[in-house]
This record gives sequence, C-alpha cells and structure tokens, in this order.
Amino acid sequence: MGRAFVYVILGGGVAAGYAALEFVKKGVSHGELCIISEEAVVPYERPALSKGFLLPEDPARLPSFHTCVGSNEERLTPKWYKENGIELVIGTRVKSADVRRKTLLTATGETISYQILIIATGARALKLEEFGVTGSDAENVCYLRDLADATRLVNVMQCCSGGDAVVIGGGYIGMECAASLVINKINVTMVFPEAHCMARLFTSKIASYYEDFYKSKGVKFIKGTVLSSFDFNPVGKVTAVNLRDGSRLPADMVVVGIGIRPNTSLFEGQLTLEKGGIKVNGRLQSSNSSVYAVGDVATFPVKLFGETRRLEHVDSARKSAKHVVAAIMEPDKIGEFDYLPFFYSRVFTLSWQFYGDGVGEVVHFGDFSGNTFGAYWVSKGHLIGSFLEGGTKEEYEAIAKATRMMPAIEDLAELERQGLGFALTASQKPQPSPSLDVSCGTGLVLEKPIYAWHATAGVVVAASIAAFAYWYGRRHRRW
Ligand SMILES: Cc1cc2nc3c(=O)[nH]c(=O)nc-3n(C[C@H](O)[C@H](O)[C@H](O)COP(=O)(O)OP(=O)(O)OC[C@H]3O[C@@H](n4cnc5c(N)ncnc54)[C@H](O)[C@@H]3O)c2cc1C
Repeated sequence: MGRAFVYVILGGGVAAGYAALEFVKKGVSHGELCIISEEAVVPYERPALSKGFLLPEDPARLPSFHTCVGSNEERLTPKWYKENGIELVIGTRVKSADVRRKTLLTATGETISYQILIIATGARALKLEEFGVTGSDAENVCYLRDLADATRLVNVMQCCSGGDAVVIGGGYIGMECAASLVINKINVTMVFPEAHCMARLFTSKIASYYEDFYKSKGVKFIKGTVLSSFDFNPVGKVTAVNLRDGSRLPADMVVVGIGIRPNTSLFEGQLTLEKGGIKVNGRLQSSNSSVYAVGDVATFPVKLFGETRRLEHVDSARKSAKHVVAAIMEPDKIGEFDYLPFFYSRVFTLSWQFYGDGVGEVVHFGDFSGNTFGAYWVSKGHLIGSFLEGGTKEEYEAIAKATRMMPAIEDLAELERQGLGFALTASQKPQPSPSLDVSCGTGLVLEKPIYAWHATAGVVVAASIAAFAYWYGRRHRRW
C-alpha cells in the first residue's frame, strides 16, 4: 500500500502549518502536498500550551490557536487543508525513512513517497530517566511538549488546587509553567542546578528581577541542586521529591522542563547532522538535495554571526518554514535565509523579547525597580544582542532593528547612559545591507562621547577652542 506526493512535510507542528500556508500562497496544486504528523490535530501554535492553554479561566482551546494566528495570519483549520487539497496523514508516526528511495514508512504500514521532503519533526522533551531518575511515568508527573501533555497537565492541576507543585528546571518551560501553576492557586517550588533562572539567556541581574517577581507571587527557589529520586504512595503517585542536596519536598504534582532533543533519529546515517540537528544550507537544503529541514530540528547558517545554529524558538520555525517553500517553489527569486534570532516570553504581567546573540560584554539599562529595563550584548566592538522587558511595540521593533544593524560600540558607559534611547535613535537610520558580519559592521558608530575629550582638552587648551570643539562635536556625532 502506498501513496506518492510531490511535496511531503514530515511533522505537523508550527513549521508545518506555516509551510502549508506558504505553499498555498505560492500556488501548490491540489493533491501535490501531504503533511504527516504523529499528533492527531492539525498544526497549532505550540507556545499557547504553556500560556493561554493553562489559564484557569477562559483558557485557550483548539481550534482558536491553530497556525498561523501567532503571526496574525489565517487560522488553518482542518477545513482549510481540505479546501486547499492538502492531504493530512495525522495521528500517524513515521517509523523509518529512506532518503535514497525517497520513501517514508508509517507505523500503520503505509509507504509514502515524495519528490521533495521537508523535515519538520521538531523536538521531544528530555525525560528524567535519561538522567538516571526513575518514575517520571507516574500520573502526577507532567512534561509539556504537545497538546496531549498540556491536556494532562490541566487535569493534574485541577486535582491539585491549593496543593504543592515542584517544578524541575529553570528554563522556558519551568518558568512559564510555574507562573501558570501559581495562577491556578498551586504552591510552587522551583528546583534547578544553575545559579539563576533562564541561565542560557538571562544575566544574573535580569534573572534576579524575575526571581524576585516570582517570589512576590509565592514561588520558592532551590538552586544549585537536582532531583535525585521520587517518593511514591501505594498507588504509584509521587508524594515527595528528593534532591541531591539531601532535602525532601512534599509534592502533589511535579512538572519537568529539563530541555529538549531534536527528532533526528529517522535520518541518522543518511543526512549530515551538526550541533544536534540536521545540517542545512542557506536554502535550508540538507546534504541530500531532495530533503530540506526547518524549525527546531534544523541547524542552519545564521548569516549575521557567520556560523551555524540550531534554534528552539517559534519565530525561527515560522520564518524558516516560509523561506523553505520559497526556496523550493521559486528558487531563482529567493536568496539565502538571513535570520535574526528572536525569542520571547510572557509570564504573569511580564513580557520580554530578545534579539540576536547573548554573548560578549553586557550593558544593562533602564529601571530594574520599575517595569521597563533591558540589556545589550557587545562583542568585538559591535552590538550583537538586545533584551527588553516591558517595552512597547515600537521599542521592541527598535531593539530588533538596532541589533540587526550591529552598530560599532566604542564606549560601553555611553551605551549604558543612552540605554533604550540608543536603539530608538539607531533604528531611525537607514537599514544597512542584510548580510553583516561583526568584522565589517555597518558604519553606524557609538563613539566615545565628545564631552569626555572635551573635559580633557579643557585642561590644556584655551576655553574658546574647547567651545569650538564642543560645537563641532555635536554637529558631527553619528549614531
Ligand atoms: C509549551 C511550549 C511553549 C513554548 N513557548 C515558546 C515561546 O514562548 N517562545 C518561543 O520562541 N518558543 C516557544 N516554544 C518553542 C516553539 O514552540 C518551537 O520552537 C516550535 O514549536 C518548533 O516548531 P517545529 O515545527 O520545528 O516543531 P514542533 O512544533 O515541535 O512540531 C514537530 C511535529 O513533528 C511531529 N513528529 C515528530 N516526529 C515525528 C514522526 N516520526 N512521525 C510523525 N510526526 C512526527 C510531532 O508530533 C510534532 O507535531 C515553546 C514550546 C513549547 C513546547
């Protein structure tokens, strides 16, 4: 038994939904495109699962968050796929792939062949068992990657109102779930090995703002240690969490968010892998010219930084999906994928956005005792990353634009003094050519402030010359 398609998307998550919309916009014919997904529902905006989906009142439920509502585009319901002649093979896992023969074998025994394959298999949640802890299949231990996990988490939360939850992990999932648990009136203790939350992205100063906010909502933090085992009651429910530092936390439920692993296993030994993902070029094409990869599973060249990255964020899934369809259907019109990394989160009343790369020297700005603050990352004399909490739409756009421009920064103190104003001013400048590398920059420069030189000059030269220099400097300042 078998079917053949021109295009097959393997995986039915965020990237698959955005790719499907783009295929239709670019005029794919009825019957040419097929999506195969292990999940039994058509693509949806996965970030909703740790946000609106977990709210106790008026929670988000499908079909309200099918792709592509996250980008204010059309909401693609099952009817939409039918009307556009897209074949859906959902609730079906692909168990093997043969890229030489261009076939996929499903768990139901069907062979599906393709001319072009887009791998959009995303990632799976890492299990505690992979770290030597057993018992994470207990009914009150929750992970969160897909709709089934989220539905289960809601059910467990509803049984634990007023009880105690332990959240293992201080990353995205841990932080967003902890906030949702609090909103559901559950007492939360977060446990993670790092010195502060969101350790891969936040500086300790940024993290302490969020940790203080969480503490004000009653969340407790236990840092620098990990889970070593569970205690169970006679029916196999977890009753307590034991930590390596010897402490024991009573628990009515546990949420585990300890990272993800890209779903590459079908292609190991067949395609080139790098940094844990399927290596693709600037057209998102793998080492086999008929196979492309997008979203969490793809390791692609980030032109801005001159190196390959595998990103685990929704914006990259959406944009790589759009790009791959253009690269396949209009190869002569489309250039290389030129992506500015972008991550965001919303918890309680807080909301932050991050653009670029969080390496190098950090300059914090704004009011850390108020609502709006941020940070810039400067590497090799250029601004390469920006973070902002509590910004307006225009302010977020400004930090994104300024980061993409990678302006030269000569004086960190001056950058700190200007704070958000620097991005707002820089973003007014005309956009430079898209391909940048840190070594060449953009011509936009944050110089050492003229007044520093001015003060020195004042000691050695006459006041009239200094006044002239000040006037001249102000007219020629460039940023
Ligand atoms: C709860 C949660 C909250 C998030 N919040 C944010 C956020 O606030 N901001 C942010 O930037 N990012 C967030 N993310 C990350 C973001 O959702 C992912 O980066 C994005 O979903 C990646 O899209 P994708 O299409 O590559 O993979 P996915 O959306 O994971 O889709 C992969 C699909 O492939 C299917 N699949 C895998 N293997 C097979 C197989 N063998 N056969 C058939 N089907 C298969 C899976 O079932 C799934 O449907 C969040 C993720 C989660 C889980």
